[in-house]
Amino acid sequence: MKFTFLGTGGAFDVAYGNSAALVEFKGHTILLDCGFTVYPTLRQHQLTSKVEYILLTHLHNDHTGSLANILLHCHYYNTNCKPIILYPDDDFRDEVYEFLRLQVQKPENYVDFTPLSELPGITAIDTFGLHTEKLQTYAYVFEENAERVAFSGDIGQPDALFAFLRGMPPKATTVFHDITFSEQNSTHTYYKKLIPMMQDYHIYGYHCDPSQSPEDNPFQLVHHQPHLMLSGRLQEAMN
Ligand SMILES: [Zn+2]
Ligand SMILES: [Zn+2]
Repeated sequence: MKFTFLGTGGAFDVAYGNSAALVEFKGHTILLDCGFTVYPTLRQHQLTSKVEYILLTHLHNDHTGSLANILLHCHYYNTNCKPIILYPDDDFRDEVYEFLRLQVQKPENYVDFTPLSELPGITAIDTFGLHTEKLQTYAYVFEENAERVAFSGDIGQPDALFAFLRGMPPKATTVFHDITFSEQNSTHTYYKKLIPMMQDYHIYGYHCDPSQSPEDNPFQLVHHQPHLMLSGRLQEAMN
């Protein structure tokens, strides 16, 4: 399993790209979220044809703004490229369908929809209302062989995800968690709330402006890990 982040910024931190990753999982490639900076990034690196599955945490623009563009691009410019949206439940599938219908009329021409359960090893954690009021959001846990990786999506407090992780059979777990350095921000997880979980989980922060990280932030940020970043991987490949 390999996570390659295409961006790690928050909704307004465009210099760092919208938070999204290409996940290599059981021989497949999953695009995990696709905000408005993702399509240009995929184009720049000729990666649109790599997108086999798409998995979304929620429908905010910094997580879906490139969705229609990617699908249209695959349809018109790539051969044998029809991405599959993995959906955790029927209500969310209907929301994504409607979201696309308003943009492309007949989504089924450009994308297939498959239940997440058909790709075993990924569990959705329903985090409804924990990011913004009445918004459907999900965190996801990926398991392949000895590896377990959790991806928080946007979430204002960490308890639901960690309660779920604590209920799983013990295993070394990497957690990619959204993080904010502002205690007033209730839509993302204030970094100090994650400190009690540090001893049991390897936590990396994302969905933030790394230049705002305070001196007492004990968490490594994905942005600073070349091995987790597309930019770092490309650099590595050139050397
Ligand atoms: Zn976001
Ligand atoms: Zn959001």
